[in-house]
Amino acid sequence: MDRFIYMDNAATTKVAPEVLEAMLPFFTEEYGNPSSAYAFSGKIAKKVAEARRTIADALNACEKEIFFTGGGSESDNWAIKGVADALKDKGNHIITTKIEHHAVLHTCEFLEKHGYEVTYLPVDENGLVSLNDVEAAIRPTTILISVMFANNEIGTIEPIKEIGEIAHKHGIYFHTDAVQAFGHVPIDVDELNIDMLSSSAHKINGPKGIGFLYIRKGTKLSNLIHGGGQESGKRAGTTNAAGIIGYAKAVELALKDMEETTKYESELRDRLIKRVLEEIPYTRVNGDLNKRLSNNANFCFRFVEGESLLILLDQKGIMGSSGSARTSGSLDPSHVLLAIGLPHEIAHGSLRLTISKETTQEEIDYVVDSLKQIIDRLRSMSPLYEDFVKKNK
Ligand SMILES: *Cc1c(COP(=O)(O)O)cnc(C)c1O
Repeated sequence: MDRFIYMDNAATTKVAPEVLEAMLPFFTEEYGNPSSAYAFSGKIAKKVAEARRTIADALNACEKEIFFTGGGSESDNWAIKGVADALKDKGNHIITTKIEHHAVLHTCEFLEKHGYEVTYLPVDENGLVSLNDVEAAIRPTTILISVMFANNEIGTIEPIKEIGEIAHKHGIYFHTDAVQAFGHVPIDVDELNIDMLSSSAHKINGPKGIGFLYIRKGTKLSNLIHGGGQESGKRAGTTNAAGIIGYAKAVELALKDMEETTKYESELRDRLIKRVLEEIPYTRVNGDLNKRLSNNANFCFRFVEGESLLILLDQKGIMGSSGSARTSGSLDPSHVLLAIGLPHEIAHGSLRLTISKETTQEEIDYVVDSLKQIIDRLRSMSPLYEDFVKKNK
């Protein structure tokens, strides 16, 4: 039997049938440019406005604070570069963390080449940022604090409300990359002291290439994409009506059964983690066990290469991910796993499995059974493992 077990939902998700259905008319009959003056387009502009309202409501924000972008990466770039430019007379210091997505890290590294200074906060062994560290890093020149809502590799959920509180106490803007969190955990931008929030549709069963940046009213931010006057003159580019409408539908679906989905996924995730830890020796789970996304499991298997593991899992129809980044032909262990203090050789043997509400218990059990076989096989070929077993006899 050919299996197809997709456990890489942190990388991207399937477009929900309801989302596709909502989008289709905007590729066919309703193809007009929402910015045009005639009634044909006005109808589409109205649908886009409704979608904007759905998304604003989901965050307890106002429609005028939602700006559609080309996805999570663009939103992160815009928030950070936009504030850096707009506040360059006030200061040049940005605070972020070592475990951010590359859309944040590489943006900060780019700014460092242009005279900005960046503090990359450490995290503890579970991936949590310390509030004391946040406050201690603040300088008179600090213009932005950017801390992700939930980590895409290990699923740890950061103390967002408290970090926002610290930022505001010092009069500093607070941005959060909520690409993995929005649609999975309840978010109220007022309650959580958030000034800017990045999100992306394709991580919550929406289409790829559409996201938004929430920008609190009054936040000073330069434009990133220059051109036409779309998005209240703040983000140029012909409105992606189909994408926006699909995104709003995905948000609606995610919110409708968020509690139920979280409960269902958490139970499966916990079964997966429990079985793996109990049945496969020399294994650890990464990330905080409580402050954690309901769909995320992340393991390190000693004496195993993450890449080999992925290939053998793929042969069994199981799709997961390893945190390693392929840079110039070699494999670098994940920056997140290094930041939680794992040595290189352990970080190399990592596996992230991210489930969805469509995952079944039978699939979880099949994955654990397959993992047991594969890891046994890989370890039996490892000279390091052989030495280790001899020494520990
Ligand atoms: C996927 C992801 C992004 C990038 O979003 P895109 O829409 O793919 O550009 C940014 N941050 C996090 C945490 C992500 O998981």
